[in-house]
Amino acid sequence: MTLSGSLQRALFIDGEFVGSDGEISPVTDKASGEVIGESITATDVDVDRAVAGAVAAQREWYTTPATERAAILRRGGAILEREAGRFKEILIREGGAIGPKAEGEIGASVIEFFQAAELATTPLGEIIPSGQRGRVNIVERRPVGVVGLITAWNAPVHIAMRVLAPAIALGNTVVLKPAPETPFTGGLMLAEVLAEAGLPAGVVQVLTGGPAGARLVSHPQVDMIHFTGSEDTGRRINVAAAPLLKRVALELGGNNASIVLSDADVELAARCGAGSSFGHQGQVCIATGRHIVLADVAADYVAALSAEAAKLTVGDPYTAAVDLGPMLSQRQVDKALAMVSSSVELGARVVEGGTADGVFLRPTVVDQVRPGMVLHDEEVFAPIAPVTVVDSVDEALKIVNGTRFGLSTAVFSRDLDTAWSVADQVRSGMVHVNDGTALHESQVPFGGTAASGLGDDLGGRANIDLLTERRWTSLQRNVL
Ligand code: NAD
Repeated sequence: MTLSGSLQRALFIDGEFVGSDGEISPVTDKASGEVIGESITATDVDVDRAVAGAVAAQREWYTTPATERAAILRRGGAILEREAGRFKEILIREGGAIGPKAEGEIGASVIEFFQAAELATTPLGEIIPSGQRGRVNIVERRPVGVVGLITAWNAPVHIAMRVLAPAIALGNTVVLKPAPETPFTGGLMLAEVLAEAGLPAGVVQVLTGGPAGARLVSHPQVDMIHFTGSEDTGRRINVAAAPLLKRVALELGGNNASIVLSDADVELAARCGAGSSFGHQGQVCIATGRHIVLADVAADYVAALSAEAAKLTVGDPYTAAVDLGPMLSQRQVDKALAMVSSSVELGARVVEGGTADGVFLRPTVVDQVRPGMVLHDEEVFAPIAPVTVVDSVDEALKIVNGTRFGLSTAVFSRDLDTAWSVADQVRSGMVHVNDGTALHESQVPFGGTAASGLGDDLGGRANIDLLTERRWTSLQRNVL
C-alpha cells in the first residue's frame, strides 16, 4: 500500500491537507473488497470554507502572469508522469482498473497538463472594428470564476484533469469533488501533485464524499458547475442550478451504437466492437452499448464478437495480468445480470458469457435484442454486447436514432461514401468510421447531444468556450 498518511481522512483546502468533523468512510479495493484507506464526507462547513478560499484566490490567480500559470502546469505534468506508478497502483485498487487502462488514463492526464500549459498563453479574444470613430472594441475572454467540478469514478484522474487543467490555465479557481468511490486518485493525490508543482493556496480545493456535490451546486459563490456522471444526477443538478441562473456543463451517459453495414470488414468491426463494449468492464460513457448489424453479415459478426469475448481473461488486476477487472460493486453486477434476464424473457439469447463470479462478470454477447428490451433501451455500463439484427440501412438508422442519448456512434463499411452518408444521418455528438465508439483525444472537442450532455464540449480550443466568458470592453481614443 503506497497511500501517504496525509491523504487519509483529509480534505485539501487553502493549500493544506486538513481534517473535518465529517463522517469517515472506508475506501475499498474494488476487486478484493479490502479496505485500503479512509475518506471524509465533507460537511457544509467544509464546502463553505473551500468556496470562500477559492473566491479569495481567484483574482490573484487570474492576474498571475500567464507564463507563470503555464510553468506550474508544466511542472504538474512532469510530477504526474514521475508519480505514474503510484497513481497506477491506486487506480487499479480503488478504481478497479486493469494496468493498461490505468496507464492510458494517467498518460492522457499528463497530456491535459501540457495542453493546458499551452492554453494559458494562447491568443484569447478579438478586436472588432467599430462604427464609431476612435472606438476600439475588444472582446475579452475572462475566466468564469469559481468552477465546482463534480466527477465520476470510472476514469477519476482523467475526468478531473480534463476540466481542472484548462480551468486553472484560463484563470479560474476550482473546487473539485471526486466520486466517493475514488477520492484518492480522483482528488487528493492530484492535490498533492498540484501543491508540489507550486500552485498557490486556494486555486484548487478538494472535497471528498457525496453530499458536498449538491452543496456546491446550490452555493451562490460557485459560478459554474462542471459535472460528469449519470443522466439522473445531471438532471437533478440542472434543476437545482436553474433558480441561481448558474452556468452548467453536463457530460452524461450514452447508449452508443456500432452500425455494421453489409460491406463492413466484419473481423475489424468485431475487434473494435469488443474493445469498446468490454474495455474497463464496459463501465465507460462511450462504450458500445448496441451493435446494430445488417442481416447478411450478422451470423459472421456474432461469431467473431463471441470469439473475441471468449478469449478475454477476467480477475483481480492487482494480483494478475487480466483483460477485465472487477465491476464497481456487487450491485452493479446484479443490475447488469437483471438487464440480461429481463431481455432474455422477451426473446433475447445469450451466446457468450452471461455469468459472474462475485464482482467479476464475464464479457457477454447477447443477440436477438430488440427495441423495448432494457438491454437496448438503457445504458448498460457493464461488459455486455447486445446485438440487434436489421434488414436495411434505414431500419438501422431508425433504431440508432431512436434513443434519448446522443454521445458516440461507430459506422463500419469498406465504402467511405456509404459510411459518410450513414454517419451524416446519425444524431450523435461524436461519430467514428471504421473504429470503436470508445475513442478520445485530448485536443479534440468531446461531448454529447440530447440526454448525453449539456453545455459546451471539452477538449482543445473548445475549452475556451467552456471555461471563459466573453466581455465587450471598448476604449474611446478621441476623448481629448
Ligand atoms: P453519479 O451521477 O452517480 O455520480 C457522479 C458524481 O455526482 C459523484 O461525484 C457524486 O457524488 C455526485 N453527485 C451525486 N448526486 C449529486 C447531486 N444531487 N448533486 C451534485 N452532485 C451529486 O455517476 P457515476 O455512477 O459516478 O458515473 C457513471 C455515469 O457517468 C455513467 O452514466 C457514465 O456514462 C457517466 N459518465 C459520463 C462521461 C462523459 O464524459 N459523458 C464520462 C464518464 C462517466
